Amino acid sequence: MQQTLSIIKPDAVKKGVIGKIIDRFESNGLRVAAAKKIKLSKCDAKAFYAIHSQRPFFNDLVDFMTSGPVVVMVLEGENAVAKNRELMGATNPKEATPGTIRADFADSIDANAVHGSDSLENAKNEIAFFFSSREIC
Ligand code: GDP
Repeated sequence: MQQTLSIIKPDAVKKGVIGKIIDRFESNGLRVAAAKKIKLSKCDAKAFYAIHSQRPFFNDLVDFMTSGPVVVMVLEGENAVAKNRELMGATNPKEATPGTIRADFADSIDANAVHGSDSLENAKNEIAFFFSSREIC
C-alpha cells in the first residue's frame, strides 16, 4: 500500500468536475484517505513548488495555483504514486493519452486540472505539507 498527494487544481474546481475526477481515482483502486478544499496563499504555492523556483513559468504557476480554491487529497492504494500519475496523463494535456484526466478535463499546460506526487519520497513530503497524521484515515 502506498499513499500519494493529489491536488484538483483551480481550473477543474471552477469547471465543477471535482466529482468526475474523484470517480477516476475511486474506480481505479485509489481510496480517498483525506480531502479538503482550500485556497492556497502565495507563500503556500511558492513553498510547495519550490523545486521549480528557477523555471521561467514559476510566477505563472504560483499565480494560477492561487487563483481559486483547490482540493487536496491523500490517495491510498497499491502503487498509488504511479497509478495516480497514469490516471492523470502527461503534464501537457495536448500530449496526454485519451481517457486520462488531463486529456479529458485540462485546457493547457498551465491549467492542467491535477497535480500528483512524482515519487514516493515526494509523496511523503507533500502529504506532510498539507495534512497532519490525524487527518488521514
Ligand atoms: P507535473 O508533475 O506533471 O504536474 O509537472 P511538473 O512537476 O514538471 O510541473 C509542475 C507544474 O508546472 C505542471 O503541472 C504545469 O502546470 C507547470 N509546468 C510545467 N512545465 C511547464 C512549462 O514548460 N510551461 C508552463 N507554462 N507550465 C509548466
